[in-house]
Amino acid sequence: MVRELRCADLMPGCNFVAQGKDDSEVMKKTAEHAKSVHKMIAIAMDVEKKARASIRDAAPAAT
Ligand SMILES: [Zn+2]
Repeated sequence: MVRELRCADLMPGCNFVAQGKDDSEVMKKTAEHAKSVHKMIAIAMDVEKKARASIRDAAPAAT
């Protein structure tokens, strides 16, 4: 099951989507993205909480 987190849920206007095989992989990709794109030095606890709550099962490919 692929898990994903849409950055737009945390940063309105951003269309980055992190996907991974589990939540920790998604969080790792999100953290890297937040640091490089949103200039976050560190992920604050409340941001991480929000991010984890926003992770969901990736929608099946629309074909
Ligand atoms: Zn973003």
